[in-house]
Order: sequence, then C-alpha cells, then structure tokens
Amino acid sequence: MIAGVDIGGTTTKIGLVQDGKVLVQTRIPTTGHADDNAFADAIAAEVARLSSNNQQPTTGIGIGAPNANQHTGIIEMAPNLPWKHDVPLARMVQDRLGITTVLGNDANAAALGEWKYGAGKGYKDLLIVTLGTGVGSGFIVNGQLVLGSHGNAGELGHMTLVIDGRQCTCGRKGCVETYVSIRGMRQTYLEMNGSAEVLKRDGVLPIAEAARAGDVVALNTFERTVEWLAVALANAVTVTGPQRIVLFGGIARNGDLLMAPLRDAFQRALLNIYMGRVDLTVSALPDDDAAILGAAALTEA
Ligand SMILES: [Zn+2]
Repeated sequence: MIAGVDIGGTTTKIGLVQDGKVLVQTRIPTTGHADDNAFADAIAAEVARLSSNNQQPTTGIGIGAPNANQHTGIIEMAPNLPWKHDVPLARMVQDRLGITTVLGNDANAAALGEWKYGAGKGYKDLLIVTLGTGVGSGFIVNGQLVLGSHGNAGELGHMTLVIDGRQCTCGRKGCVETYVSIRGMRQTYLEMNGSAEVLKRDGVLPIAEAARAGDVVALNTFERTVEWLAVALANAVTVTGPQRIVLFGGIARNGDLLMAPLRDAFQRALLNIYMGRVDLTVSALPDDDAAILGAAALTEA
C-alpha cells in the first residue's frame, strides 16, 4: 500500500493506492495552517488515519508539489503555496511517520502516473503535458523520467514561444503557458475582444461552452491555441523524439474543439522526419484519481 499526496494551491489530496487503483481518498486545505510544520502534521495525521482503517501496512509515501526538487526532497520557493522559504517536506513527513517518503514535482508526478498506469503504459519515450491553469510536463526518455542535474527538468510550459511576448508568472516573457493554459486562453479571448461576461461564468473553461454555442471569438481562441500548442509540442519532439504525447487536464478534454484540429496542426508543425510517427492522445486516468496515482508513482521512480 502506497500513500499518494498531491499538494495544490488550495487543496491537498491524500489517498491510498494499491495495484494502480486509488482505494480511498480525502482532502485537506493547503492554506490556513500555522506554519509548514503544522501542514506536515496534518498530512501525517491523514495518512495515519487512512492507513489505520486498512489491513495492509503503508510502505511508502509519494508527495507531488509545485517547485519540488526530487533530488533533495525540498519544495523550493513555490509561488502558489503559502510558504516562501524552502520546505524539506519529504524529511518532515518521513520523520513523523517513519515511512520512506519521496517528494517530486507535481508535473513529473502526473507524468509518472500516466506512464505507470495510464495512456503511457508500456512506452519507453513519452511526453506528458498537463494543460491547466498553467502548463506542466514530464519527459520519459529511454524508460526513465528526466530530472536533470538540478532535479527539475522538463519545463515545457516555460519554454519561450514568443520573443517579448506575454508576461509570465516566472518573470520571463512569452512562455508557452502564457498562451496555451486556461489563463492564456482567457487572455487570448479578451485580446480578441471576447465577452467579459462569458469569463465570469462557472466551470473549468467557459470559453469552450461559448464556442459550442457559436461564439466566434471563442472559436477563434481555440484556433489560435491549437496553433501555439502544435508548435510547442513539435518543438519538444525535436529534443526527445517521443513515440507518444499524452495531454492531460481540462482543456484536453475538449476533443472536438482542441484534439481534432490539434492532431492536424501538430502533424503540419512537426519536423518531416517525425511526421506520422508521434501519436497524440488524451489521458486515460480519471481526473479525480490522477494526481494521487502520480504522487504514489513517485515512490517507484
Ligand atoms: Zn514562464
């Protein structure tokens, strides 16, 4: 039995995983704890509680978090988390429970989950891209997750797509995620004079709803997003030459508006030696379980 912990900006999901299935899960707020020690206490308490209801012992804990360094087990100055200093969370949780704990970048965790249990199963060379508020990615090369010498390789979302382009939260300009994320699509929609009313609606991506209702600006927003994403993915292919690319996240669930045109645009954008040889698909994992499965998979990486 492995515990998987996914730390998001507002909510932390905690679950127990066995044979690639989430058996039980719960969530706690990420914010509102007195300090990082109190947060580690809360994680440890939930893992202990879930484990105590189970017959089998929990033998490992995997934690996925933004800005996590898998080599050191430290969350480094994550912009979307409450703590601005380095948090050695792997050691903090391990000390509390006496269970081997691995901390990794959340995008890499998602990639591992997809590789071990999802649409990437069995592939030796794979690229997994999460299209959410931002853009995360993980590269599997020759059967291994690429971490790089600094423990944080594979940041496709922060490759420059447009010189002097949109301001990114990382401090640079023109990063891929300023164009093809949910945030990026909202900006594209507004720049093309889309309706501010549409963006106030609930849901992951009101622009998709608007596009299906015939909103021309929303349709154009998807068209531009597809072109940008196709180029970003084609560029990534030239570096690691994957057999398959798996897209994950709310945007990718729009098969009609995104995936169908993207498959064409991607083939056109590819360097000719890769044409027809890289297949593009959507995550096979249930949204609710994917982050926990990925975090748990960190213990096997
Ligand atoms: Zn950036």
